[in-house]
Amino acid sequence: MLDSWVLTLKNVLLPMFCKQCGERILTEENTCFCPACWEQSPRITRPFCTICGRPHTGAVGFGSASNFPCAFCRAAHDRPFRRIYGAALYLDAVQMAIKLFKFNARPRLAQPLGAMMADFAKAEMPLDDYDLLVPVPLHRVRRRERGFNQSELLARELLPVFHNTRLDLSLYRIRPTRVQSLAATPAERKANIVGAFAVQGDGLRGKTVLLIDDVVTTGVTTGECARALARAGAANVDVFAAALVAAGDAL
Ligand SMILES: [Zn+2]
Ligand SMILES: [Zn+2]
Repeated sequence: MLDSWVLTLKNVLLPMFCKQCGERILTEENTCFCPACWEQSPRITRPFCTICGRPHTGAVGFGSASNFPCAFCRAAHDRPFRRIYGAALYLDAVQMAIKLFKFNARPRLAQPLGAMMADFAKAEMPLDDYDLLVPVPLHRVRRRERGFNQSELLARELLPVFHNTRLDLSLYRIRPTRVQSLAATPAERKANIVGAFAVQGDGLRGKTVLLIDDVVTTGVTTGECARALARAGAANVDVFAAALVAAGDAL
């Protein structure tokens, strides 16, 4: 009761508007987007690739069909993780939310993004399989500038969803890297990130790890993290991102 009065008062004194369409927002679940824009932002649904997680666009309309690997993943064999899961495409309100989340310091966006990932996980992922949730780390300098690591906040939101799992922060970034989207060519992206990650201690040995990321673009950063986890003895590494860039945009 008091909560609804506080919310009413806040709506009058500090009106919030949807970043996508400009509508007034009257709930507190998502302080940046109206429910319509949030729900219309495309989620990843079946059928999607069992390796890279991207939807099979040619198969739209077969909502309950089984998943299968895409042609690209069937051809490529060398990958340091088992598979990638993504909850949404990196488009529309979800894309804007992720940008606001990390570049405009809106840590509260971890809640709606985490809830979106939790919905996907409950529908599509083996919730009992993971020993550890490991967030993709920021370099300590960037972490200090931003005040938080967005992937760690998402992992914390997801902890109650995965059973028998705990958060592990032993993966770290050895050296600062440029923001990947600014690196011009695929070769430069790779040179920027190779060997940038390491693991502290021996806690990952034999573990099945779920690596948590905000957005997977080309998979180069994710792949380097997974390699560092494998070097530290992790038995299996899967990746779970809030959003995936569609394959055509990433290559
Ligand atoms: Zn809106
Ligand atoms: Zn694929």
